[in-house]
Amino acid sequence: MYDPLIDRNIGASQAYPDSYWAQHTDIAEPTAPLLQDLRSDVVIVGGGYTGLSCAYQLATRFNREVSVLEANQPGWGCSGRNAGFVLRGTGRLGLAQLTQRFGAECAGLFHQEYGDAITQVKRMISAGNIRCDSQPEGYLKVAHNAATAADLPAQAAFLQRQFGYQAEYVSPQQLKRDYMHNAQAYGAIRFPDCFGVNPLALAQGYAVMAQQSGVKLYAGSPLLSWQRETDGGFLLQTPKARIRCKQLLLATNGYTPKGLYPALNRACLPVLSSIIVTQPLTPAQLEQSGLQHTQLVMDTRALKYYYRKLPDNRILFGGRSAVYGKDAEKTVYPARLLAALKACFPMLTDLRCDYHWSGWVAVSYDDLPRVCEAEPGLFYAAGYCGSGVSFSTLAGVRLAELASGVAVPPLPIYQSRLAPFPLPAFRRLGQQAYYQWGRFKDRFL
Ligand SMILES: Cc1cc2nc3c(=O)[nH]c(=O)nc-3n(C[C@H](O)[C@H](O)[C@H](O)COP(=O)(O)OP(=O)(O)OC[C@H]3O[C@@H](n4cnc5c(N)ncnc54)[C@H](O)[C@@H]3O)c2cc1C
Repeated sequence: MYDPLIDRNIGASQAYPDSYWAQHTDIAEPTAPLLQDLRSDVVIVGGGYTGLSCAYQLATRFNREVSVLEANQPGWGCSGRNAGFVLRGTGRLGLAQLTQRFGAECAGLFHQEYGDAITQVKRMISAGNIRCDSQPEGYLKVAHNAATAADLPAQAAFLQRQFGYQAEYVSPQQLKRDYMHNAQAYGAIRFPDCFGVNPLALAQGYAVMAQQSGVKLYAGSPLLSWQRETDGGFLLQTPKARIRCKQLLLATNGYTPKGLYPALNRACLPVLSSIIVTQPLTPAQLEQSGLQHTQLVMDTRALKYYYRKLPDNRILFGGRSAVYGKDAEKTVYPARLLAALKACFPMLTDLRCDYHWSGWVAVSYDDLPRVCEAEPGLFYAAGYCGSGVSFSTLAGVRLAELASGVAVPPLPIYQSRLAPFPLPAFRRLGQQAYYQWGRFKDRFL
């Protein structure tokens, strides 16, 4: 599998991974690659949610001439292969940690922004009439042990008091009665406004909306290299043709190839996340497991598991995967996920896995993303740390605003660049050490 820390180029025109989503989505014919030299006001690199949302905004709100270069197909990266959790937030810091780091007022702005991100996804779904199987709202953050569970009532009360957010504490008894017979669940907090979607259908919908707004979308067109022109603009090289532009917006996130923009590469750690999808549960299995609902679920482990029931009664179950791209397809990873699923739901012991795939999320050094102008005329949005379905959509809006000189909310994530990792060559060693520690913490602490 392509590995952004090792490969200098991402490749071109690759098929979607063999995921449940690719098998259950009407996929549009790929658009043609860039075959002729041209000029464009703005070029966006990367056709995921960030790039497509940004392109749509630039075309519709700012009347800009936009070209999108996508190495493969729209949504080929994370956007077409994620778990489809439209969550409130991004990065790895909750509102309590944001309050500690930036103060209560700024945490309030984050809360507002995260709510706006969910609203923006809903707005896009409605404006584009996107058929992406939106499920009824609700996300359960489930405590995986009694010690973590003890904090949940206070956490829910803090969210209500401080932010007026209707988070609900769910006791272990209520969790069992209403949501799941999970042997490793000790209570939960329920977030009422998050919901599940088919992520690839959402990405396809964004691509259609961008194109219908006049955006030129070139699939199979990786940006191989770029240079500055004397007038401050950019000259971009793709396999068959070149583009000149005034502004260059990188929306390549966890898939940014090694050589594309080293400052961005050094500031992200691409981490593999893996998903399995089981065979459909029988009515008896649904009843025994209690999984009769479509709430999104994630646990509180350091090495988190996340899961949801899909519209056809299969369970999507995800978590950590290999460290290196070359190991991503090894059977040990789906086997581990299936074993973890069965440890939570021992009554599902006969369940088989029908699909497995992985993707690269971009983890930032300080656990927060950035949307910024990195140098004159060159912008990026990256570092969502695996939580980006809602935020990427809003990040596209903010990126378009920054590139058009419009003020964005005064949040730290829009006011600075991503910090480089210290000793970037050792990022993967650090990751392996974190996994060891996480395993120990999740088992014994
Ligand atoms: C397994 C998995 C599960 C996840 N589940 C969730 C979830 O449930 N909820 C959630 O909030 N987040 C989830 N995420 C994260 C979420 O999917 C991402 O944060 C989000 O999709 C990022 O969107 P993006 O547009 O920024 O990047 P991507 O969708 O990754 O798009 C980047 C694009 O850039 C293209 N590209 C790269 N280099 C070049 C180049 N040189 N030239 C041209 N194109 C290039 C790639 O082909 C790719 O299509 C998950 C991620 C994974 C991998």
